[in-house]
Amino acid sequence: MVNSVDYVIVGGGSAGCVLAARLSEDPDISVVLLEAGGENDAFLINMPAGTAKLMGHKNYDWCLPTETDSSIGGREMQWSAGKVLGGSSSINGQVYMRGERSDYDNWEKLGCAGWNWGSVFPYFLKSETLHDAPSQSHGTYGPLSVSPVRQPQAIGQYVIDAFEQIGVPLNADYCDGSQFGVYRVYATQKDGRRCSAANAYLDPVRTRANLTIITGAQVDNIVIENNRATGVVYRHNGADVRINAAREVILSAGTVHSPTILMRSGIGPAAHLSAHGIDVVVDLPGVGQNLREHNTISVAQFVSIPTLSAQLGPFRMVGHLFDYLFRSKGLLTTPAVQVMAALKSDPDLPEPDLILSMLPVAATFNDEGNAVIEQRASFSFGFHVARPQSRGEIRLRSANPLDKPIIDHRLLGDGGDVAKLVKGLRLIERLCRAPALARIITGTLRPAPFPEKDTELEDYVRRSVGIGYHSVGTCRMGPDGDPLAVLDPELRVRGVAGLRVVDASVMPEPVSANTNAPTIMIAERAAELIMRMQ
Ligand SMILES: Cc1cc2nc3c(=O)[nH]c(=O)nc-3n(C[C@H](O)[C@H](O)[C@H](O)COP(=O)(O)OP(=O)(O)OC[C@H]3O[C@@H](n4cnc5c(N)ncnc54)[C@H](O)[C@@H]3O)c2cc1C
Repeated sequence: MVNSVDYVIVGGGSAGCVLAARLSEDPDISVVLLEAGGENDAFLINMPAGTAKLMGHKNYDWCLPTETDSSIGGREMQWSAGKVLGGSSSINGQVYMRGERSDYDNWEKLGCAGWNWGSVFPYFLKSETLHDAPSQSHGTYGPLSVSPVRQPQAIGQYVIDAFEQIGVPLNADYCDGSQFGVYRVYATQKDGRRCSAANAYLDPVRTRANLTIITGAQVDNIVIENNRATGVVYRHNGADVRINAAREVILSAGTVHSPTILMRSGIGPAAHLSAHGIDVVVDLPGVGQNLREHNTISVAQFVSIPTLSAQLGPFRMVGHLFDYLFRSKGLLTTPAVQVMAALKSDPDLPEPDLILSMLPVAATFNDEGNAVIEQRASFSFGFHVARPQSRGEIRLRSANPLDKPIIDHRLLGDGGDVAKLVKGLRLIERLCRAPALARIITGTLRPAPFPEKDTELEDYVRRSVGIGYHSVGTCRMGPDGDPLAVLDPELRVRGVAGLRVVDASVMPEPVSANTNAPTIMIAERAAELIMRMQ
């Protein structure tokens, strides 16, 4: 067992895989990657359509409960986050998206020097290989494969036509920092298989002598001596193991777990730590605060044309399996989201504030968090506020690392978010009346009947809103003097040397995008910042 290396990376998810691969490019640097989950070689993970079965699957998903949320009618929800190499990128919906130019320019305005669009764009390119016509806004040599959807469903074109009929243009490339319009999505896939961060970054470098990957290794806490992180303690095969980091410990355990590891190590809001009997090393009140999430609403319609639901019977499945296994084609290569749109809830807004996803299927979620597919021909829209203002927090339930953390979401705590979602419902109502969709829609599955008054729509929003699985912000970076900034703009934890956080939790504000590619970008840039310190 290795017991001392240069860098210890905690969490082998979207960010952790990037860091492990980039830092170990130098053969003189030793790296250990500790991942609580297992290997990423399961059939369900590699098959793109497996996402629906992975969510809520105890082998691959942390399956965390959220607290009762009074902003959404006192409901509790299942929170999904990948617990496997590749992290959430091994169970996610594979939509490839970067966000608006202004998302990142805004980070810089908030005091996060070096994170404006011009600075981060090269890292999106560095990470990516696009398997489509060459384009200046895409990468050609990066580890992460990005591809068009292999089997687009007919309903997608009806939706695109309907958008154009209500004045929302087709956006030929939504990845150049300007997303307004409707578009066919790219997927993080290669040859019809999922391309997780583990497939992209780890698999090609696993044989490096200076890189050790340990799965089933759940980190309890960081060892801090004289205000310097010198290692971590993790559980492996029932025993506590300590590993030392000569240069840095890097937390990449994601939006829920990075703040909890900091807190268990004595870094966080002093009163909260003391209440759990944890000695305070640094009083950082921002740890676990600023939990931001894409609060998502669903609308589902019945249609007169076949959609995915009509193609899911057991006999058809045999054919789909054959197509997938022997031809890398067909339905099982298909991510759930095929068409998206970035929309303005008010035409006078300078940029989109609503993000919509079209799924060629309608589903509900059961109590275990698994998707249950509607059998009748149907499709659905999921949409969310691009940069929600509602804020929740992550807290410790106890000092015991095996206790699930408290996820106190307050998903619709901000009235402005609710108002935007109501406007979004009105927009969808208008879209469904556009000729291209009106002639195939035969009825409404959800909400049924479609409410007439705004107050009823608001009630629907609060009763039905769900998690978008794009949580960010709980260890946010910020400038000197910002009392709630956990990290400086180079992602170093304030008050402790040799310790960084690099994952989705560092984002100071949400991006108008699904968060996998932005997290990978963050890790690409962080790797360079770290190597520059050598
Ligand atoms: C169901 C779902 C669907 C999504 N769909 C999309 C999509 O279509 N497109 C998109 O762009 N984004 C999507 N996302 C979001 C995106 O995948 C995540 O934002 C991104 O993967 C986060 O990366 P991360 O590195 O911050 O965390 P993660 O990728 O979650 O990695 C954290 C890793 O740390 C490990 N870990 C946690 N605690 C410990 C510990 N104590 N010790 C050791 N290891 C630990 C975890 O097991 C995990 O492997 C989705 C997410 C989910 C959950």
